[in-house]
Amino acid sequence: MSDTTPAQRLGTRCVQSGWQPENGGPRQVPIIESTTFKYATSAEMGALFDLEASGYFYSRLQNPTCDYVAEKLRDLEGGSAAMLTGSGQAASFYSVFNIAGCGDHVVSSSTIYGGTYNLFAVTMKRMGIEFTFVEPDCSDEELEAAFRPNTKAVFGETIANPALRVLDIERFAEAAHAHGVPLIIDNTFATPVNCRPFEWGADIVIHSTTKYLDGHGACVGGAIIDHGAFDWTAHADRFPGLTTPDDSYHGVTYTERFGLGGAYITKATTQLMRDFGSVQSPQAAFVLNLGIESLQVRMARHCENAQALAEFLAADERVSWVKYCGLPGDEDYDLGRKYLPDGSCGVVSFGVAGGREAAERFMGRLKVCAIETHVADARSCCLHPASTTHRQMNDDELAAAGISGDLVRFSCGLEEATDLIADVDQALG
Ligand SMILES: *Cc1c(COP(=O)(O)O)cnc(C)c1O
Repeated sequence: MSDTTPAQRLGTRCVQSGWQPENGGPRQVPIIESTTFKYATSAEMGALFDLEASGYFYSRLQNPTCDYVAEKLRDLEGGSAAMLTGSGQAASFYSVFNIAGCGDHVVSSSTIYGGTYNLFAVTMKRMGIEFTFVEPDCSDEELEAAFRPNTKAVFGETIANPALRVLDIERFAEAAHAHGVPLIIDNTFATPVNCRPFEWGADIVIHSTTKYLDGHGACVGGAIIDHGAFDWTAHADRFPGLTTPDDSYHGVTYTERFGLGGAYITKATTQLMRDFGSVQSPQAAFVLNLGIESLQVRMARHCENAQALAEFLAADERVSWVKYCGLPGDEDYDLGRKYLPDGSCGVVSFGVAGGREAAERFMGRLKVCAIETHVADARSCCLHPASTTHRQMNDDELAAAGISGDLVRFSCGLEEATDLIADVDQALG
């Protein structure tokens, strides 16, 4: 466990939390590259299997390197327990499937990552879980009407990828809690540096660590963090998986054995990792930790670059519209001020005047910024969805999906703003 105190600021904890070396121990997180762990007696190992003792036995369930890095993320988000996963997709899936199964229902914001939308609307639907999608700025009546007796969770993104809408976390948390279910927040774009959703009432936070947490386009990964404050036992009938004996683990009842702070993550580890096995490798966790060490320094630069680019674009008539919550007049400016007072993220969306063809021309002229289906990298990258990820759609279908033909998604890296703006300026022609 980390011996840092709450008195330490977030930027210090980005560097110092997690791995704590003993006297003479390695300063950097050791990469424990071992699938398995040795014990003297079967009885000792048996106690681990029964969850009566804690320790490592097989890296599909837990690995020390991954746990040191998960501990750092737990500390940064202010949670009670955390785990790493092999990808952000695995984190999204586990976070919901840990408390919802066949015949259950989940309310989700409609402006979420496309991969998450597909996971929910197609794949998890095939597993018998129904999702109702609501606009992030839906009316109170619409939000209320989305709930059903079998609703098990509410899901949303702090800053939606790619729509860049900011979620009113407090409002969604209140609605979730009024119906006795937790709010799960994907905090990938904001990172704990710019928003800590638990402070606004969220119960579970997930990340695609592939994005800013890694920050160098090096390793795919995910994380789940539990606040430990949601009282599963107060709604025991709704969450039997946490509040009644698990036959696959010798009758352990997670809330009894591990308390409110440990039940959710222990269940996700022992059941979902055991059965689905989307583990992060110790090597990837090591690289992730290197990224998190500089997270606060990097986020400030990403946001500074994005703000400068957004302001340049907003004042340029070769650009028809700009979406960035740091711009006064943006529909999410006030929510951004509330939830993201230190900055939002490095991603800006805008429309190139002249439409789809003009946007394609713009992309072809970029020199510094690379065309990639990625965001949140140290190197700036740029995507024109209409000619790449969404190329099978015509203009009407694009409009229905909320993506216009002129839309360019620009992820500001860590370069100097002057060079990024010069590149965009010449590419606009
Ligand atoms: C990329 C992304 C994901 C999926 O994460 P992977 O690591 O690519 O599996 C989930 N949510 C958001 C907001 C993302 O940007």
